[in-house]
Parts: sequence; C-alpha cells; structure tokens
Amino acid sequence: MTPSLSQELFDRARRVIPSGVNSPVRAFGSVGGTPPFLASAKGALLTDADGREYVDLVGSWGPMVLGHAHEPVVAAVQDAATRGLSFGAPQAGEVTLAEEVARRIGPIQQLRLVNSGTEATMSALRVARAATGRDVVVKFAGCYHGHVDALLAEAGSGVATFAMPGSAGVTEGTARDTVVLPYGDRAALTELFAQRGDEIAAVITEAAPANMGVVPPPEVDGVGFNRFLADTAHAAGALLISDEVLTGFRASAQGHYGIDGEGWAPDLMTFGKVIGGGLPVGAFGGREDLMGLLAPAGPVYQAGTLSGNPLATAAGLATLAGLDDAAYRTLDTASSTLQQLVADALTAAGVPHVIQRAGTLFSVFFREEPVRTYAEAKAQDTAAFTRFFHALLEAGVYLPPSAFEAWFVSTAHTPEIIDRIAAALPAAAKAAAAR
Ligand code: PMP
Repeated sequence: MTPSLSQELFDRARRVIPSGVNSPVRAFGSVGGTPPFLASAKGALLTDADGREYVDLVGSWGPMVLGHAHEPVVAAVQDAATRGLSFGAPQAGEVTLAEEVARRIGPIQQLRLVNSGTEATMSALRVARAATGRDVVVKFAGCYHGHVDALLAEAGSGVATFAMPGSAGVTEGTARDTVVLPYGDRAALTELFAQRGDEIAAVITEAAPANMGVVPPPEVDGVGFNRFLADTAHAAGALLISDEVLTGFRASAQGHYGIDGEGWAPDLMTFGKVIGGGLPVGAFGGREDLMGLLAPAGPVYQAGTLSGNPLATAAGLATLAGLDDAAYRTLDTASSTLQQLVADALTAAGVPHVIQRAGTLFSVFFREEPVRTYAEAKAQDTAAFTRFFHALLEAGVYLPPSAFEAWFVSTAHTPEIIDRIAAALPAAAKAAAAR
C-alpha cells in the first residue's frame, strides 16, 4: 500500500521535530495511529494532506468559534497584512481590542496583550506575587494553565493525556512554591489558608475546568466555587486569578464563566484562544492598581516583540464582532444537540458515560458517575474512548485525540454538519462497547 501523505509528513516530522509535533497531544500518543496532517479548513470542515474531509470538533482547541477561514476574519487579517505585519510599536488595533474586552468583562479595568495563554498566566502570577510580596500559588489538580513551570504540577490537558505528574526540568524551588489541591475541595482550601495564609500570593483556577474534561464549578448553599475562592483568598490578603483562556468568550455570552456580578470579582483574569481568532494571542488583565505594577510605570517586568501584533488584533476583533447573542444561541443549540446525540448513541450501545457541560462547553467521560475531580476524571475507560475516537476518525469526524479534552463546536456547526456526526455515532458507540 502506498503510504499516505500524512504518514510521509509524520515520518519526516519525527526526524526534525520532537515526536513530530509542536504540541504534545497532536502526536496521537495516547490514542495511537498517525495524525492527519491538515492542508486546509473551512467552516466546520477540515481537509487533510490526502484530501480526506473531516467534521472538526477540535476548533484548534478553542479559537475557531466562528468556524475556520470565516470570511470577515480572513478579510480583516488580509487588510491588516497589506498595512504591515509587525511594528513593535503601538497601533490602534491593540487599543480597540483591549477596550472591547474591558467593555464585555466587568473586572477588567486594564489589559495587556501577549502571545499565548501560557504567557498570560505566567505574567498574571508574576503580578500577583509582586502585589502581595508572597511566593506561594495554589492550583487545582486537573486544571491546566499552560506550560508555566510553577503551574505544571498535576495539570490537565496533555499532562493528563500522558498521565504525567508534572514535568522534568522544573526546579524543586519552583515546585515547593506551588500547592496543588483537589478541585472543589473547600475544606482543604480552608485548612491550607488557616495554616499558610500569609504565604499565599494567589489562588489560580480555570473559571470552569475544561482540561480534565469539563467540570462545572460546584455550588454549595448557593455559593459558587469561584466566589468561595475569591472570598477565602481575599480574607487572607491573597488574590484570585481566574483563567479564562479556554472558557473566555466561548462558554457564555457574557464572555466569562461563573462571575455572578454580586459584589465579588477575580483580581486578575487571563484570556487567549478566541480573542486571537486563530492567531497567537493571550491577554491578562484586572484591577488597575494591580496592572499598574507593570513596567515601565511599575516594577514588574513583562514584554513581547510581537505582543499586540496588528494581524492578531485584527483577527481577534473580527472574531469578537461575530460573537453576538445570535452566535451564542447557535453555539448553544449545536452543543446541546450534539450532547443529546452522543448520549443516545452511547446509551443504545450500552456504553457507560457521563456528559458534563459548562455553558456551551462540554465533554464526554467514559464512566457512569459524575466527575468532580481529576482523580475521578482519570478513573474513566480511556480504552473505550480510544475505540470511539478511531471509529469516528475513520468515519470522518475529528474529535480531540484525548479523553481529557472538551469538544469544541462553532457557529459553522449547522444542523447539516451535526447530521453528519449523527450518522457516524451509532457505529462508533458500538466500537466503544466492543472489548
Ligand atoms: N489556560 C487554559 C485554561 C488553557 O486551556 C490553556 C491552553 N489550552 C492555557 C492556559 C495555555 O494556553 P496556550 O496553549 O495558548 O499557551
């Protein structure tokens, strides 16, 4: 058999790029097989190097909320490109994008643009440490905040996919300043603050964890988990960093997840993905007194040659412009319809599963009981997921190649596109059931 072009590219890639990929989960390491190398994408459809077409449920892991090569976004980038690719000097698009994010998200008084979600959380952490004069950061097992040294311990996403505890190459000193708690565990947080409250600079959390699969923040006696984190941190003079790199502008029409607006707010927030419309963008922002600590006015250094890049701000602005209430209704319908179809197919095939959602975000766990923590997320039948994944891929549906990731729909996931997924689901569910 002639090797496919994807196979040839993967072979070449592995010679010059570690594992053949520039981000670990892309290598299909946990599900096996050769990843399709993509040649083009339009709307909800991907085309690989061999000309095979797939319905996309990855959406570049979040940014492509309006679908691929969405015309107004492409036009905005083309127009910006004719006026120069990078200035390394202030330009209007940065101002407009910062204004637009601040307009939509209450707690954002000031914002800085960076080039990835990782840079955003790394910089927010630096500001929090400078503001409090403290070192310790509290994170939750299963939450992923990018590949920041201090935040890799028991992280979700690829760290979960490959069952890694963290990462080699992170110093003991760095790891010592990170405390990892089980997600949702109020007693553990209260106890930690009782013992070490005066050492804690910040608690960082995903507004709704979506990197161990989707785990909606639990409410106890009407108090949401995010609010509980803010209250506990603030009582001890620590800050709350709400990481909305994944949830931001995707989980809800408000642009954020889990801020109820009743007298509390995270101190700092991070964004990425959607606000760059598919180009490399991240952002961190929050209270003016905290953001005022940044250089050159303040003592916290943070910078970037390409930060606020004109193509990236054009793509981000065009994407946000497309995200009106009608767009969120479309996303919500696509998401809900798909969840029902998946549940029906897996139920009919007798496959234990639970589907969890946070706003328009959702994921499918291959286990019966709800997932509230990373430990519970790991206790799922990943082998069943792998069979399900490959059957869908074979049928032309491209799922995230990991049981620990959210599934991403876009406004281009029309009823016709959803029908194509529906047609592939029963056989994939049977494959998941077969042992
Ligand atoms: N925070 C969260 C919640 C994320 O989901 C991600 C990426 N999936 C990041 C941070 C890191 O973003 P990036 O990959 O752009 O560095």
